Amino acid sequence: MLFVLAPVFDLFRLDLNLKHFFFLGMHWTLGLDDFVAGKIDVTQAAINIVLRGGLPILGTIALGAWVSWKYGRLYCGWLCPHFSVVETVNQLMRRTIGRQSLWDRHALSEKNADGTITRANPFYWPVLLALVVAFAFVWAIVLLTYLLPPTEIYGNLWHGTLTRNQGVFLGVGTVAFFVEFMFARHLFCRYACAVGLFQSIAWMGNRKAMVIGFNRRRVDECVDCNSACDNICPMRLNPRKIKRLIFTCTQCGQCASACSQVQIDNPNGSLLKWVERECALDKSARDFGHHDGIPDDCYGQDQKK
Ligand code: SF4
Ligand code: SF4
Repeated sequence: MLFVLAPVFDLFRLDLNLKHFFFLGMHWTLGLDDFVAGKIDVTQAAINIVLRGGLPILGTIALGAWVSWKYGRLYCGWLCPHFSVVETVNQLMRRTIGRQSLWDRHALSEKNADGTITRANPFYWPVLLALVVAFAFVWAIVLLTYLLPPTEIYGNLWHGTLTRNQGVFLGVGTVAFFVEFMFARHLFCRYACAVGLFQSIAWMGNRKAMVIGFNRRRVDECVDCNSACDNICPMRLNPRKIKRLIFTCTQCGQCASACSQVQIDNPNGSLLKWVERECALDKSARDFGHHDGIPDDCYGQDQKK
């Protein structure tokens, strides 16, 4: 909703007509019009560029790098509009074909973490296709409103008076987003998104960063489980594996929630939980035969087993 409404309320957008950004309802310019009009000198213009352009951009990058270094891809799992589409389409695709992705080799277990059953039903195909088309169309429109005034775009759409270029943008954008949402949404998150890659690299640089930890001391308790954590993962990862192999984890926490449901009657609780600092090393430093083991108290009273 924020992604859709941000341009409408001028929370954030670029206006190609005015050639500057809007931020929190205000015009965000570099203040160079005053320089062109001779109202400020070159020093003041340079200060404006640094304060209004350089600092906000560098500050945003620094904040993003710090959050990712410490907590991983939080933006992906909790804020990114693309990931919302990934999760929604995944769930409907599972209802339709029994898999979260067309590229998954095997059907997932019909049994959910909470014990309920979800059977694949091809009846959902029209619903799935309609949803993906709707997502693609809305995304194309919203993207356009990040570049041109939303009142103009929505007004033209309502009255059927889109310009040729606007119509072409919406048509091409809808087709491109449809293909991406349908066939390549995970691939985009894993390999093509610069924001995601940037966060993953920062995260990998900190071995003590927050990560989904696996209490391997209790690994035998997984025996009766149908790998509910693997089945639920929207990024199609195996959350019990080492950090390098879940490089694209979006910290959505769905695997830990699934395990909590599977182990609901187990007084020791979930085997998966977010850990950090020394407790994260079993996940991040365990590789190529090296493993430090799990320090005591990382998983609470259940750990001793
Ligand atoms: S491994 Fe867990 S936290 Fe990471 S993306 Fe998969 S379900 Fe989400
Ligand atoms: S970690 Fe939890 S959800 Fe995953 S296989 Fe083991 S018991 Fe099942």
